[in-house]
Amino acid sequence: MERIDIKSMDMKELQSFIEAMGEKKFRAKQLYSWMHQKLVTDFDEMTNLSKAFRDRLKEKCSLGGVQIRREQISKKDGTRKFLMELSDGNMVETVLMKYHHGNSVCVSSQVGCRMGCRFCASTVGGLTRSLATSEILDQIYEIERHIGERVSNVIIMGIGEPLDNYENVIRFIRMLSDENGLHISQRNITLSTCGLVPKIYDLMREELTITLAISLHAPNDEIRREMMPVANRFSMNEIMDACRKYIEETGRRITFEYTMVQGTNDSRENALELAARLRGMLCHVNLIPLNAVEGRMGHRSVPENIRQFQSVLECHHINVTIRREMGSDIDAACGQLRNKNR
Ligand code: SAH
Repeated sequence: MERIDIKSMDMKELQSFIEAMGEKKFRAKQLYSWMHQKLVTDFDEMTNLSKAFRDRLKEKCSLGGVQIRREQISKKDGTRKFLMELSDGNMVETVLMKYHHGNSVCVSSQVGCRMGCRFCASTVGGLTRSLATSEILDQIYEIERHIGERVSNVIIMGIGEPLDNYENVIRFIRMLSDENGLHISQRNITLSTCGLVPKIYDLMREELTITLAISLHAPNDEIRREMMPVANRFSMNEIMDACRKYIEETGRRITFEYTMVQGTNDSRENALELAARLRGMLCHVNLIPLNAVEGRMGHRSVPENIRQFQSVLECHHINVTIRREMGSDIDAACGQLRNKNR
């Protein structure tokens, strides 16, 4: 019998679930707190629930759980990368970065990915399956237990395309920011997408205050199609329209990620064309030096090109930063550690 994944239930669902078991509604709050605040991994630790109730839960339900199988720690900056095993044996990666403002965790949303970006390690082998809400939450819970510290920022930028696992990812964001859970502010949560346009409109209507990051990587459709097959489905004009609408509706600034690949998208002309496209938008550009992946597209842009690109955007009054490289000595590009362990 498949066990019921109660850790993926929000408070309302958990209440109806345990009422259907003949328990009082307020017990749901206690159970929720054990799972999402005290982060216990065993029903027997839930000491304010009766033994009889715990036994019934144990029989029917699972507490899921991901397990740390490998850990790499960067000697340069302390960034820690974890290979996490799911209950069915599949693996994902989770990264912990320490900044002065707190602990930031980058979570995976799928096992593999079907978007096929040519420079990315996560898409080798395609999509195996999407993660349940509890499996995304558990990546953070496992890290909090492991380091004994709170996590303050979460980025959904690991393996997978979060908007290709839409329902579970939205539920994850709501449960993570719920005051009955870890209560991480939505303002400290970033979701990164390769640009699934209809889903951007859906996201806009969720009334979340997260930061949306769009993996743009190119100034026009021609270059974008060389790098990302998804660009054949949605044009840059469609993405820009969706982004403008998103900004208008939510009042939130959008981040554009731009991975810099030598000779592909990093010239002065490319920067000028991008600047023209982004003119007047409430946005921020994050330049990411490519982490070259063996067998995948491209080489990293040389530092002069990255600096030139940055200064062209700055001259056009576009907010731009170069992503600080974290953990470059530890298979930094997402998917690399998982690929080595398959
Ligand atoms: N699927 C989502 C989120 C996961 S990828 C998305 O596409 O946004 C997170 C970011 O890392 C994306 O901007 C992605 O394009 C970028 N990325 C992937 N592989 C990379 C690599 N080898 N070097 C640098 N950036 C990479």
